[in-house]
Amino acid sequence: MTDRMMKAPESGVKVRMYRQGLGDCFLLAFPANKAPAKKTPAKKAGETFYMLIDCGVLMGTPDAAEQMKAVASSIKDSTCGKIDLVVISHEHYDHLSGFGFEGSQQIFKDFTFGQVWVPWVADKTDGQALKLRKDMEMQLHALEITARLMKASGNEKSAAAINELLGVSKKVQEQLQFVLDKKRARAQLYPKPSLKPLTLDNAPGARFYVLGPPTDEKLLHQMDASRDGEIYELARKKRMALVNAVLSLEDKAKTEETGKFLPFDPGLEISEANAKGDEFFRANYGFGSSPGQGAEWRRIDADWLMAMEELALAYDHFLNNTSLALAIELTKSGKVLIFPGDAQVGNILSWSQLKKEEDEDGHSSMDELFKRTVFYKVGHHGSHNATLKEKELEKMASKELAAMIPVNQEMARKKKWNMPFPHLLDALKEKTRGRVIILDQDLPKNRPQELSQKEWTDFKNNVTETEHYFEYTVNG
Ligand SMILES: [Zn+2]
Repeated sequence: MTDRMMKAPESGVKVRMYRQGLGDCFLLAFPANKAPAKKTPAKKAGETFYMLIDCGVLMGTPDAAEQMKAVASSIKDSTCGKIDLVVISHEHYDHLSGFGFEGSQQIFKDFTFGQVWVPWVADKTDGQALKLRKDMEMQLHALEITARLMKASGNEKSAAAINELLGVSKKVQEQLQFVLDKKRARAQLYPKPSLKPLTLDNAPGARFYVLGPPTDEKLLHQMDASRDGEIYELARKKRMALVNAVLSLEDKAKTEETGKFLPFDPGLEISEANAKGDEFFRANYGFGSSPGQGAEWRRIDADWLMAMEELALAYDHFLNNTSLALAIELTKSGKVLIFPGDAQVGNILSWSQLKKEEDEDGHSSMDELFKRTVFYKVGHHGSHNATLKEKELEKMASKELAAMIPVNQEMARKKKWNMPFPHLLDALKEKTRGRVIILDQDLPKNRPQELSQKEWTDFKNNVTETEHYFEYTVNG
């Protein structure tokens, strides 16, 4: 036990948001069990139960490696290198890269993790997950082929963009394996969503509700509110047809020097020059805007590979929706904290479809959890489609509600991402009456007029602001 260790409140939880840049890294401290059950690692009275949710920063962040080394070193000082529960919300670099830089990895190497929780979609023993992973692997493989063909056809820029995604995706898998490595992770869990909360012997003051990712694939594929899951299901089928078309090129790409990026057998192909001279092709596939020319969009040539760029984006967005979303309920006060990862619309909608089972008396429904929510980690860095107004934010009825947004606005601007989305930020400020803590901004100096003097003083007393993190204490 050192002075620098993070101490839990007597009753409740302390939530620390690191300020490393655009990315998530949250360290939570709960009071630990004073009389631990036999099987759990013994904890002395008054010791703290530590939980880490994600630890990463976006690629391209200035001084990312040094930033994450400082974060890792702070976590080590704060926990003595023993974290009881690590949650990896989803497989994105801005949530995992802290485990990948040389300096920070060197520090995390000697940590012990009591348990590691990862979304069920990463469970290699789960049938549904395996099916999903197979689709994902096919997409990655098709993207590899696409990048190669694009390069061969002179489209270096698109090829480079796809290769970057592939490179990052590989790194993220290595970072995830580092966290799950049995050398440091005592147990691994891939929990499915349920209103039957998980409890841990050495954290008696908290119950953990796994809300997402949904097992309903329509919802799993739904990214925004303007279109329903059916449309995403259809889009997914179309994408897989495209993926199969690209994969079918592979043998040819390997064995033939010519015609590498053509989708058909050379014996079936007609050169562009020949097609231009043929009335049927002119009338049906058009080569310009002069009269008698048909619709040009019918032609595919090498253009069809461009659709794979969209697929690459869709693949990346989909990962957000595989977020392990959690509601943490403090058993004594009933207060709730929500950590949705980067869950998008379908994931959030699925929470309210979770049903209480008959034998779950005393457990809470989603509406009850929303009603008692006093802390909300804003999803996906404050993007427009990761917090629902009516079906989420407006249901949070507690007068105590506060929110944290892990966003760096300079980086978001560079990426041309509208984060935090202005309407959402307004809604959050209204709902929390000004108690919104933003990673890259100082706390407001003056009392928001909607808060009473006492509420403002209480809030300020519960927040610690340093250069490296914000800490917020929820008593209860
Ligand atoms: Zn993220």
